[in-house]
Amino acid sequence: MAGSSLWVVRLASLLAVGFVVGSVKASPGDAHPQYRTCVKECQNTGITGSNIISHCQSRDNDSTSAGSSWYTHEPLYLQWKQQNCMTDCRYYCMIQREERRQLGGLSPVKYHGKWPFKRVSVFQEPLSAALSALNLLTHFIGWLSFFLQVNYRLPLRPQTKRTYYEYTGLWHIYAILSLNAWFWSTIFHTRDIDLTEKMDYSSAVAQLGYSLILTLLRTFNVKDEAGRVMFAAPILAFVTTHILYLNFYELDYGWNMKVCVAMGVVHIVAWTTWAVVTHHPSRFKVWIVIFGGALAVLLEVYDFPPYKGYADAHSLWHASTIPLTYLWWTFVRDDAEFRTSTLVKKAK
Ligand SMILES: [Zn+2]
Repeated sequence: MAGSSLWVVRLASLLAVGFVVGSVKASPGDAHPQYRTCVKECQNTGITGSNIISHCQSRDNDSTSAGSSWYTHEPLYLQWKQQNCMTDCRYYCMIQREERRQLGGLSPVKYHGKWPFKRVSVFQEPLSAALSALNLLTHFIGWLSFFLQVNYRLPLRPQTKRTYYEYTGLWHIYAILSLNAWFWSTIFHTRDIDLTEKMDYSSAVAQLGYSLILTLLRTFNVKDEAGRVMFAAPILAFVTTHILYLNFYELDYGWNMKVCVAMGVVHIVAWTTWAVVTHHPSRFKVWIVIFGGALAVLLEVYDFPPYKGYADAHSLWHASTIPLTYLWWTFVRDDAEFRTSTLVKKAK
């Protein structure tokens, strides 16, 4: 996600995922008796329709046959196999039911909190995974161009050889956390398991929390170390505690949503106020990112089922953050240039 907007974006994503996962227990699709019977039979026999689920079939053979490899007796391996058996059975039963529903003219319903997506190879939600990867790439390109800008195109301080721009290091950390968040988003949309879900949530919260610190430091023009620590310390402490809570106590979607909404609101208020008050030459970019981010959140509100089994609202929302991220990094570059020219003029 891109700085000011990316947090809006990330926020909406969290909201959406929160809703999705929060409703895992009671989706209309998996509540249907036909689906439940299908999954149960599939898990017992390893066969559903014309599909043979190898993970279910060879489970008994693996644990008894003396000739099989050592790892086939490992509890972790067996657990993994069982997990795959369940996931595959759920998938094929869902596809079967959805085909039948479609023939009857019915629109798709959710299963275990998620829309019925068609897999592509190992990708459970191929479009969201691909778009997350593109977001990652956009951040990388943005970061790289920022790096080249501050280190090679703009003048450096004569004595220290460091950049004039006071927020260089902070944007570097921002880039690393954003790349990490989109990396885990890509993995999570590829394969939704407990671990990938927690990593996705934690990385998103870390990115959102950090960009809140950066937002406050930039919009309030905090340049001295003491001031920065005063802003950063309480937020860092809170975000760290929150991430530990999600991972080791309870992945509470409702509470996480409240935390993210609160952080998101502070972001919006800070950047909007700044964009109104400032005479910064690139303030219009901040406006576009805020406005675009807000529009993109609507995609999450109108959570429609995947078109042709691929393009749902969430994936389109991931698409919308790509241009916003690009624009956001151009703002960061402009800001570096603007601050540098101001400081160089002052020095003369
Ligand atoms: Zn997502």
